[in-house]
Amino acid sequence: MLVYKTSFFSVYFGDAQSSLPRDFLMTPCRKEELWQEKPLGAIKTQLQLEDLVFLKQTHSTLGEVVSDENLSALMRYKPEGDFLITQRAQTGLGVYTADCLPIVVYDKAHNVMGMCHAGWMGTVHKVIVHMLQRMQKEYGTDLEQIQILFGPSAQACCYEVQEDFRGHLKDFSFQERVLHERSGKLYFDIPLCNKLQLLECGVKPEQCDFSYNTCTICVDGFCSNRRNRESMNRQLTVAVLNKKI
Ligand SMILES: [Zn+2]
Repeated sequence: MLVYKTSFFSVYFGDAQSSLPRDFLMTPCRKEELWQEKPLGAIKTQLQLEDLVFLKQTHSTLGEVVSDENLSALMRYKPEGDFLITQRAQTGLGVYTADCLPIVVYDKAHNVMGMCHAGWMGTVHKVIVHMLQRMQKEYGTDLEQIQILFGPSAQACCYEVQEDFRGHLKDFSFQERVLHERSGKLYFDIPLCNKLQLLECGVKPEQCDFSYNTCTICVDGFCSNRRNRESMNRQLTVAVLNKKI
């Protein structure tokens, strides 16, 4: 478990030790029940959260803007979606993963937080681009002024795909760069595929921070669907704006 903190926002990067069952995270529950659950109570204290929102993640390109008006409905009903955006302080935006990639986007100029869940399917359907477009539409986000943090995910050292996976990438100009061939096997580079999509949108490489992007398959201590298909536990990534500006 690691916490990234600035005076403007904080991000919690969880691991297997502080993971929770996927079913619990997907199922609607009351706010009080949320905080009683380990490790959510501890994350609440550490990040000084008032609220915490998760969606029913379905590898889509859909997402929600969390506002004063819809917060309690989102917490109570957990609609389907794979990104969350907010300008609300102390409102945690959460994703849960086991090999998929959590991407945190902070827009300093407008004090807006975005949190995206990008598995291979979300990645090939450009879920991160959908989230950025929504941030631009809702808040006028300038992509040259955002900061991006990549959480733990499967990486090209381990993430084997079949030959027909190439078909999913046929519309990307950088297809060859995100597929690596080694000893007759093919590996997909999820973090790089998302980074290259960001660069195509005008983001600069120095805006992307990969310090927390550990490989969940070959590094012990993370939930990994590839390494342990039986486990339904998911590690959490939670991002929050510390204050209203
Ligand atoms: Zn690896």
